[in-house]
Amino acid sequence: MTTIRAAVFEPNSQHAALQDLSLRELRDDEVLVRLTATGVCHTDLGFRCRVPHALVLGHEGAGKIERVGAAVRSVGVGDSVVMSFNSCHECPSCLAGKPSYCHKFMPLNFTGLRLDGSSALAAGDRPIGGHFFGQSSFATHSVAHESSVVKVRADAPLELLGPLGCGVQTGAGAVMNVLRPRAGESIVIVGAGGVGMSGLMAAVVEGCSPIIVLEPNAERRALAKELGAHRVIDPLNEDVAAIVREVAPAGVLHALDTSGLPKVVAQVLGLLALRGSIALVTATPREAVLEVPMISAIGRGISIRGVIEGDAQPQEFIPKLVELVMSGRFPLHKLVRFYDLENIEHALEDQESGKVIKPIVRMR
Ligand SMILES: [Zn+2]
Ligand SMILES: [Zn+2]
Repeated sequence: MTTIRAAVFEPNSQHAALQDLSLRELRDDEVLVRLTATGVCHTDLGFRCRVPHALVLGHEGAGKIERVGAAVRSVGVGDSVVMSFNSCHECPSCLAGKPSYCHKFMPLNFTGLRLDGSSALAAGDRPIGGHFFGQSSFATHSVAHESSVVKVRADAPLELLGPLGCGVQTGAGAVMNVLRPRAGESIVIVGAGGVGMSGLMAAVVEGCSPIIVLEPNAERRALAKELGAHRVIDPLNEDVAAIVREVAPAGVLHALDTSGLPKVVAQVLGLLALRGSIALVTATPREAVLEVPMISAIGRGISIRGVIEGDAQPQEFIPKLVELVMSGRFPLHKLVRFYDLENIEHALEDQESGKVIKPIVRMR
Protein backbone atom coordinates (compact mmCIF):
# COMPACT_ATOMS: atom_id res chain seq x y z
CA MET A 1 0.00 0.00 0.00
CA THR A 2 1.28 3.45 -0.88
CA THR A 3 1.72 5.81 2.05
CA ILE A 4 1.52 9.46 1.17
CA ARG A 5 2.99 12.16 3.38
CA ALA A 6 0.81 15.21 2.91
CA ALA A 7 -0.01 18.65 4.32
CA VAL A 8 -3.66 18.42 5.37
CA PHE A 9 -5.74 21.56 5.94
CA GLU A 10 -8.83 21.41 8.17
CA PRO A 11 -11.79 23.82 8.26
CA ASN A 12 -11.29 26.67 10.73
CA SER A 13 -7.56 26.21 10.84
CA GLN A 14 -5.28 27.73 8.29
CA HIS A 15 -2.32 25.64 9.40
CA ALA A 16 -1.02 22.61 7.59
CA ALA A 17 -0.80 19.35 9.56
CA LEU A 18 1.64 16.84 8.09
CA GLN A 19 0.07 13.39 8.07
CA ASP A 20 0.59 9.96 6.55
CA LEU A 21 -2.36 9.16 4.29
CA SER A 22 -3.23 6.01 2.40
CA LEU A 23 -4.09 5.74 -1.27
CA ARG A 24 -7.51 4.11 -1.48
CA GLU A 25 -7.65 3.31 -5.17
CA LEU A 26 -6.31 4.48 -8.48
CA ARG A 27 -9.03 4.63 -11.12
CA ASP A 28 -8.49 3.39 -14.67
CA ASP A 29 -8.08 6.92 -16.05
CA GLU A 30 -5.85 8.18 -13.22
CA VAL A 31 -2.12 8.26 -12.60
CA LEU A 32 -0.03 8.31 -9.44
CA VAL A 33 2.76 10.89 -9.56
CA ARG A 34 5.74 10.80 -7.20
CA LEU A 35 6.25 14.52 -6.75
CA THR A 36 9.69 16.06 -7.03
CA ALA A 37 8.47 19.49 -5.96
CA THR A 38 5.49 21.84 -5.99
CA GLY A 39 5.15 25.58 -6.22
CA VAL A 40 3.06 27.61 -3.78
CA CYS A 41 0.45 29.80 -5.48
CA HIS A 42 -1.70 32.62 -4.08
CA THR A 43 -4.79 30.48 -4.54
CA ASP A 44 -3.39 28.04 -1.95
CA LEU A 45 -3.04 30.91 0.53
CA GLY A 46 -6.50 32.25 -0.14
CA PHE A 47 -8.13 28.84 0.07
CA ARG A 48 -6.47 27.53 3.22
CA CYS A 49 -8.71 29.70 5.43
CA ARG A 50 -11.89 28.34 3.88
CA VAL A 51 -11.46 24.67 3.04
CA PRO A 52 -14.93 23.01 3.14
CA HIS A 53 -13.55 19.77 4.63
CA ALA A 54 -10.15 18.22 5.35
CA LEU A 55 -8.09 18.36 2.21
CA VAL A 56 -4.60 18.61 0.80
CA LEU A 57 -3.87 21.88 -1.03
CA GLY A 58 -1.14 22.50 -3.60
CA HIS A 59 -1.53 22.79 -7.35
CA GLU A 60 1.83 23.38 -9.00
CA GLY A 61 3.27 19.87 -8.88
CA ALA A 62 5.95 18.26 -10.99
CA GLY A 63 7.35 14.76 -10.70
CA LYS A 64 7.53 11.30 -12.21
CA ILE A 65 4.75 8.86 -12.98
CA GLU A 66 4.90 6.01 -10.49
CA ARG A 67 1.78 4.07 -11.47
CA VAL A 68 -0.93 4.29 -14.13
CA GLY A 69 -4.55 3.14 -14.25
CA ALA A 70 -5.50 0.35 -16.68
CA ALA A 71 -6.91 2.72 -19.36
CA VAL A 72 -4.11 5.31 -19.32
CA ARG A 73 -2.35 5.60 -22.68
CA SER A 74 -0.83 9.10 -22.83
CA VAL A 75 1.87 8.61 -20.18
CA GLY A 76 3.77 5.69 -18.71
CA VAL A 77 5.67 4.78 -15.55
CA GLY A 78 8.86 6.84 -15.23
CA ASP A 79 7.70 9.72 -17.43
CA SER A 80 8.51 13.24 -16.22
CA VAL A 81 5.38 15.36 -15.88
CA VAL A 82 4.25 18.84 -14.94
CA MET A 83 0.77 18.88 -13.42
CA SER A 84 -1.98 21.36 -14.23
CA PHE A 85 -5.66 21.99 -13.53
CA ASN A 86 -8.45 19.52 -14.26
CA SER A 87 -11.21 19.89 -16.85
CA CYS A 88 -14.11 17.75 -18.08
CA HIS A 89 -13.10 17.27 -21.78
CA GLU A 90 -16.71 17.30 -22.97
CA CYS A 91 -18.26 20.75 -22.36
CA PRO A 92 -18.31 23.44 -25.09
CA SER A 93 -15.22 25.20 -23.64
CA CYS A 94 -13.20 21.99 -23.41
CA LEU A 95 -14.24 21.01 -26.94
CA ALA A 96 -13.19 24.48 -28.13
CA GLY A 97 -9.69 23.90 -26.70
CA LYS A 98 -10.21 26.36 -23.82
CA PRO A 99 -10.24 24.03 -20.80
CA SER A 100 -9.63 26.79 -18.23
CA TYR A 101 -13.20 27.92 -18.92
CA CYS A 102 -14.54 24.38 -18.41
CA HIS A 103 -18.18 24.44 -17.36
CA LYS A 104 -17.20 22.18 -14.46
CA PHE A 105 -14.03 24.08 -13.51
CA MET A 106 -15.24 24.91 -9.99
CA PRO A 107 -16.34 21.42 -8.85
CA LEU A 108 -13.38 19.77 -10.57
CA ASN A 109 -10.75 22.06 -9.09
CA PHE A 110 -12.01 23.60 -5.86
CA THR A 111 -13.91 20.91 -3.96
CA GLY A 112 -10.81 18.74 -3.54
CA LEU A 113 -12.94 15.75 -4.55
CA ARG A 114 -13.70 13.86 -7.74
CA LEU A 115 -16.96 14.86 -9.42
CA ASP A 116 -18.75 11.94 -7.75
CA GLY A 117 -17.70 13.23 -4.32
CA SER A 118 -15.07 10.57 -3.66
CA SER A 119 -11.36 11.02 -2.91
CA ALA A 120 -8.34 8.86 -3.57
CA LEU A 121 -6.84 9.72 -0.18
CA ALA A 122 -7.81 8.75 3.36
CA ALA A 123 -6.56 8.95 6.95
CA GLY A 124 -7.69 5.59 8.30
CA ASP A 125 -11.40 5.46 7.38
CA ARG A 126 -11.73 9.19 7.02
CA PRO A 127 -11.63 10.50 3.45
CA ILE A 128 -9.26 13.43 2.87
CA GLY A 129 -9.71 15.62 -0.20
CA GLY A 130 -6.91 14.72 -2.60
CA HIS A 131 -8.04 16.36 -5.84
CA PHE A 132 -7.57 20.11 -5.26
CA PHE A 133 -6.95 21.57 -8.74
CA GLY A 134 -6.88 17.96 -9.88
CA GLN A 135 -3.71 17.23 -7.90
CA SER A 136 -3.39 18.25 -4.19
CA SER A 137 0.36 18.48 -4.58
CA PHE A 138 1.48 19.49 -1.05
CA ALA A 139 2.40 15.82 -0.67
CA THR A 140 4.93 13.19 -1.65
CA HIS A 141 2.47 11.71 -4.17
CA SER A 142 -0.42 13.02 -6.18
CA VAL A 143 -3.34 11.28 -7.88
CA ALA A 144 -4.50 12.94 -11.09
CA HIS A 145 -6.62 12.32 -14.15
CA GLU A 146 -4.23 11.42 -16.97
CA SER A 147 -5.17 14.61 -18.84
CA SER A 148 -4.01 16.78 -15.91
CA VAL A 149 -0.40 15.69 -16.33
CA VAL A 150 1.74 17.07 -19.13
CA LYS A 151 4.64 14.91 -20.25
CA VAL A 152 7.86 16.90 -20.50
CA ARG A 153 11.43 16.13 -21.60
CA ALA A 154 13.20 13.48 -19.52
CA ASP A 155 16.03 15.94 -18.86
CA ALA A 156 13.69 18.75 -17.72
CA PRO A 157 14.57 20.22 -14.28
CA LEU A 158 11.42 19.00 -12.47
CA GLU A 159 12.42 20.68 -9.23
CA LEU A 160 11.84 24.06 -10.88
CA LEU A 161 8.95 23.40 -13.25
CA GLY A 162 5.84 22.91 -11.08
CA PRO A 163 4.87 26.62 -11.24
CA LEU A 164 4.45 26.30 -15.02
CA GLY A 165 1.15 24.52 -14.27
CA CYS A 166 -0.52 27.58 -12.71
CA GLY A 167 1.23 30.86 -11.82
CA VAL A 168 3.65 30.96 -14.73
CA GLN A 169 1.03 29.77 -17.20
CA THR A 170 -1.33 32.47 -15.91
CA GLY A 171 1.07 35.37 -16.50
CA ALA A 172 2.94 34.12 -19.56
CA GLY A 173 -0.27 32.82 -21.15
CA ALA A 174 -2.09 36.14 -20.70
CA VAL A 175 0.70 37.77 -22.70
CA MET A 176 1.45 35.06 -25.28
CA ASN A 177 -2.04 33.63 -25.81
CA VAL A 178 -4.34 36.61 -25.16
CA LEU A 179 -2.58 39.97 -25.62
CA ARG A 180 -0.34 38.49 -28.33
CA PRO A 181 1.93 41.51 -28.71
CA ARG A 182 4.10 41.88 -31.79
CA ALA A 183 7.80 42.67 -31.43
CA GLY A 184 8.26 46.37 -30.76
CA GLU A 185 4.82 46.89 -29.19
CA SER A 186 4.50 48.47 -25.76
CA ILE A 187 3.23 46.74 -22.62
CA VAL A 188 2.67 47.71 -19.01
CA ILE A 189 2.72 45.04 -16.33
CA VAL A 190 1.06 45.88 -13.03
CA GLY A 191 2.55 43.98 -10.09
CA ALA A 192 5.81 42.05 -10.10
CA GLY A 193 4.83 38.93 -8.17
CA GLY A 194 5.04 35.44 -9.66
CA VAL A 195 2.31 36.07 -12.24
CA GLY A 196 3.52 39.56 -13.18
CA MET A 197 7.14 38.43 -13.49
CA SER A 198 6.00 35.55 -15.70
CA GLY A 199 4.16 38.05 -17.89
CA LEU A 200 7.30 40.18 -17.96
CA MET A 201 9.51 37.28 -19.05
CA ALA A 202 6.96 36.43 -21.76
CA ALA A 203 6.94 40.07 -22.93
CA VAL A 204 10.73 39.94 -23.19
CA VAL A 205 10.52 36.70 -25.22
CA GLU A 206 8.00 38.38 -27.56
CA GLY A 207 10.28 41.40 -28.03
CA CYS A 208 7.91 43.99 -26.52
CA SER A 209 9.24 47.53 -26.25
CA PRO A 210 8.98 49.45 -24.10
CA ILE A 211 8.14 47.11 -21.23
CA ILE A 212 6.98 49.11 -18.20
CA VAL A 213 6.49 47.51 -14.78
CA LEU A 214 4.53 49.09 -11.91
CA GLU A 215 5.56 47.67 -8.55
CA PRO A 216 5.81 49.25 -5.09
CA ASN A 217 8.49 46.86 -3.75
CA ALA A 218 12.01 48.14 -4.56
CA GLU A 219 13.64 44.69 -4.59
CA ARG A 220 11.06 43.45 -7.07
CA ARG A 221 11.51 46.52 -9.24
CA ALA A 222 15.25 45.78 -9.35
CA LEU A 223 14.59 42.18 -10.33
CA ALA A 224 12.10 43.30 -13.00
CA LYS A 225 14.85 45.45 -14.52
CA GLU A 226 17.27 42.56 -14.40
CA LEU A 227 14.69 40.39 -16.19
CA GLY A 228 14.30 42.90 -19.00
CA ALA A 229 11.88 45.68 -18.01
CA HIS A 230 12.86 48.92 -19.76
CA ARG A 231 11.26 51.16 -17.13
CA VAL A 232 10.10 50.35 -13.62
CA ILE A 233 7.83 52.69 -11.68
CA ASP A 234 7.01 52.89 -7.98
CA PRO A 235 3.27 53.67 -8.21
CA LEU A 236 3.16 54.88 -4.60
CA ASN A 237 5.86 57.52 -4.96
CA GLU A 238 6.12 58.35 -8.65
CA ASP A 239 3.76 59.96 -11.17
CA VAL A 240 2.76 56.92 -13.20
CA ALA A 241 0.82 58.78 -15.92
CA ALA A 242 3.60 61.30 -16.51
CA ILE A 243 6.31 58.64 -16.75
CA VAL A 244 4.26 56.44 -19.08
CA ARG A 245 3.56 59.47 -21.31
CA GLU A 246 7.27 60.11 -21.49
CA VAL A 247 8.21 56.47 -22.26
CA ALA A 248 5.24 55.68 -24.54
CA PRO A 249 3.82 59.00 -25.78
CA ALA A 250 0.86 57.39 -27.61
CA GLY A 251 0.00 55.22 -24.58
CA VAL A 252 0.64 51.53 -24.13
CA LEU A 253 -0.89 49.00 -26.47
CA HIS A 254 -1.00 46.12 -23.98
CA ALA A 255 -1.50 45.81 -20.22
CA LEU A 256 -1.42 42.90 -17.81
CA ASP A 257 -2.97 43.60 -14.43
CA THR A 258 -2.08 41.34 -11.52
CA SER A 259 -3.13 43.80 -8.80
CA GLY A 260 -6.81 42.90 -8.96
CA LEU A 261 -7.60 46.38 -7.60
CA PRO A 262 -10.41 48.25 -9.43
CA LYS A 263 -8.80 51.63 -8.73
CA VAL A 264 -5.50 50.52 -10.24
CA VAL A 265 -7.17 48.90 -13.26
CA ALA A 266 -9.15 52.09 -13.88
CA GLN A 267 -5.90 54.06 -13.83
CA VAL A 268 -4.22 51.62 -16.24
CA LEU A 269 -7.19 51.89 -18.64
CA GLY A 270 -6.30 55.57 -18.89
CA LEU A 271 -2.74 54.68 -19.92
CA LEU A 272 -3.82 52.57 -22.89
CA ALA A 273 -3.21 53.64 -26.47
CA LEU A 274 -5.92 53.55 -29.13
CA ARG A 275 -6.88 49.88 -29.67
CA GLY A 276 -5.21 49.04 -26.36
CA SER A 277 -6.02 45.83 -24.48
CA ILE A 278 -5.85 44.90 -20.82
CA ALA A 279 -5.86 41.37 -19.44
CA LEU A 280 -7.24 40.85 -15.92
CA VAL A 281 -5.95 37.66 -14.31
CA THR A 282 -6.18 37.95 -10.53
CA ALA A 283 -8.89 36.48 -8.32
CA THR A 284 -10.62 39.51 -6.82
CA PRO A 285 -13.19 39.68 -4.02
CA ARG A 286 -16.74 39.25 -5.35
CA GLU A 287 -17.56 42.84 -4.45
CA ALA A 288 -14.75 44.28 -6.59
CA VAL A 289 -16.40 46.32 -9.38
CA LEU A 290 -14.67 48.09 -12.23
CA GLU A 291 -16.20 51.37 -13.37
CA VAL A 292 -15.37 52.10 -16.98
CA PRO A 293 -16.11 55.37 -18.81
CA MET A 294 -17.93 53.77 -21.72
CA ILE A 295 -17.66 56.39 -24.42
CA SER A 296 -13.91 56.60 -23.93
CA ALA A 297 -13.57 52.80 -24.11
CA ILE A 298 -15.68 52.67 -27.25
CA GLY A 299 -14.04 55.62 -28.96
CA ARG A 300 -10.55 54.32 -28.25
CA GLY A 301 -11.33 50.71 -29.20
CA ILE A 302 -10.33 49.40 -25.77
CA SER A 303 -10.50 45.66 -24.98
CA ILE A 304 -10.89 44.41 -21.42
CA ARG A 305 -10.38 40.69 -21.14
CA GLY A 306 -10.74 38.39 -18.13
CA VAL A 307 -8.27 35.51 -18.37
CA ILE A 308 -8.06 32.23 -16.45
CA GLU A 309 -4.83 30.19 -16.49
CA GLY A 310 -3.50 32.24 -19.40
CA ASP A 311 -6.13 30.80 -21.78
CA ALA A 312 -3.70 27.90 -21.99
CA GLN A 313 -4.20 24.43 -23.30
CA PRO A 314 -1.61 23.01 -20.86
CA GLN A 315 -0.69 20.05 -23.07
CA GLU A 316 0.54 22.49 -25.70
CA PHE A 317 1.62 25.50 -23.69
CA ILE A 318 3.63 23.86 -20.88
CA PRO A 319 6.09 22.06 -23.19
CA LYS A 320 6.63 25.40 -24.95
CA LEU A 321 7.42 27.03 -21.58
CA VAL A 322 9.76 24.15 -20.67
CA GLU A 323 11.75 24.83 -23.85
CA LEU A 324 11.98 28.52 -22.99
CA VAL A 325 13.13 27.77 -19.42
CA MET A 326 15.71 25.21 -20.57
CA SER A 327 17.08 27.49 -23.28
CA GLY A 328 17.69 30.22 -20.67
CA ARG A 329 15.18 32.64 -22.24
CA PHE A 330 12.75 32.38 -19.33
CA PRO A 331 14.88 32.62 -16.15
CA LEU A 332 12.28 31.25 -13.74
CA HIS A 333 14.98 30.26 -11.23
CA LYS A 334 15.42 33.94 -10.31
CA LEU A 335 11.97 34.01 -8.65
CA VAL A 336 12.37 30.89 -6.58
CA ARG A 337 13.32 29.78 -3.08
CA PHE A 338 13.21 26.12 -2.05
CA TYR A 339 11.72 24.62 1.13
CA ASP A 340 11.27 21.09 2.51
CA LEU A 341 7.77 19.68 2.98
CA GLU A 342 8.35 19.81 6.76
CA ASN A 343 8.72 23.58 6.42
CA ILE A 344 5.64 24.16 4.30
CA GLU A 345 4.24 26.67 6.80
CA HIS A 346 7.38 28.71 6.32
CA ALA A 347 6.92 28.58 2.54
CA LEU A 348 3.30 29.75 2.87
CA GLU A 349 4.31 32.57 5.23
CA ASP A 350 7.06 33.78 2.91
CA GLN A 351 4.63 33.80 -0.02
CA GLU A 352 2.03 35.69 2.00
CA SER A 353 4.44 38.31 3.35
CA GLY A 354 5.90 38.81 -0.11
CA LYS A 355 9.38 37.88 1.08
CA VAL A 356 9.69 35.28 -1.66
CA ILE A 357 8.13 35.61 -5.11
CA LYS A 358 7.76 31.89 -5.78
CA PRO A 359 8.32 29.39 -2.97
CA ILE A 360 8.85 25.81 -4.15
CA VAL A 361 8.43 22.89 -1.74
CA ARG A 362 10.73 19.96 -2.44
CA MET A 363 9.79 16.39 -1.50
CA ARG A 364 12.42 13.96 -0.27
ZN1 LIG B 1 -15.18 21.09 -19.66
ZN1 LIG C 1 -2.60 28.84 -8.82
